[in-house]
Amino acid sequence: MSKQHSINVDHAEVSKFEQLAARWWDPNSEFKPLHEINPLRLGYINDIARLNGKRVLDVGCGGGILSESMAALGAEVTGIDMGEAPLEVARLHLLESGQEVDYQRIPVEQLAAEQPASFDVVTCMEMLEHVPDPSSVIRACATLTKPGGKLFFSTLNRNPKSYLFAIIGAEYLLRLLPKGTHDFARFIRPSELDQWIRQASIRTEQITGLVYNPLTGQYRLNPRDVDVNYMVCCSKDPD
Ligand code: SAH
Repeated sequence: MSKQHSINVDHAEVSKFEQLAARWWDPNSEFKPLHEINPLRLGYINDIARLNGKRVLDVGCGGGILSESMAALGAEVTGIDMGEAPLEVARLHLLESGQEVDYQRIPVEQLAAEQPASFDVVTCMEMLEHVPDPSSVIRACATLTKPGGKLFFSTLNRNPKSYLFAIIGAEYLLRLLPKGTHDFARFIRPSELDQWIRQASIRTEQITGLVYNPLTGQYRLNPRDVDVNYMVCCSKDPD
């Protein structure tokens, strides 16, 4: 690997989010899907992990939609991202919301080397499909979690239906997302994610789909449909 790529970051991917960052908190912008799925994923995480009073790390936090909502439930949240503009937007939004989140620009692998076993809960949502080596992110997340802690990952499955929904539907037909937001080749099958999870010495406990209904424009959780967007809950064994 060249020096520039010695950290696990695709600068072209990060720059896509930098350019859109100003609209992050506009619920009718490109980030509308993140706003719409947030109550669902927050409820799922909180039901399992009981966020109040927990130390939580949100990896690839962007403008902080999930980070802030976890802080509002009483978690002590650190949010990390490699985009500066999304982090600036996230910090500014704290002034409006009155929440507290510690936002930092640091690669997850570096934080793992500096602060292993520091967080009760680690979340990493809609980020793995933008990274050159997702298995390295998963390993770092596992290192950062305290023994007995929980981890939550979400990403996009890779199959003809997810191509139709996430690329053709979302970027071309419904224009929910700008064209080029997602690279199909980087989508991750649940079996691939599970293999990386096991290699990181953590365990998949549950998997659930985040299903978009194009007729109603609504999302819901469905454990039987992980064809497109899905979320995995993992645990790290106690010592
Ligand atoms: N997790 C947030 C934002 C998802 S958008 C949410 O679900 O609400 C994807 C985010 O991943 C962007 O903010 C982008 O800057 C970030 N990202 C992409 N590559 C990254 C990397 N290698 N390290 C950290 N963050 C990264």
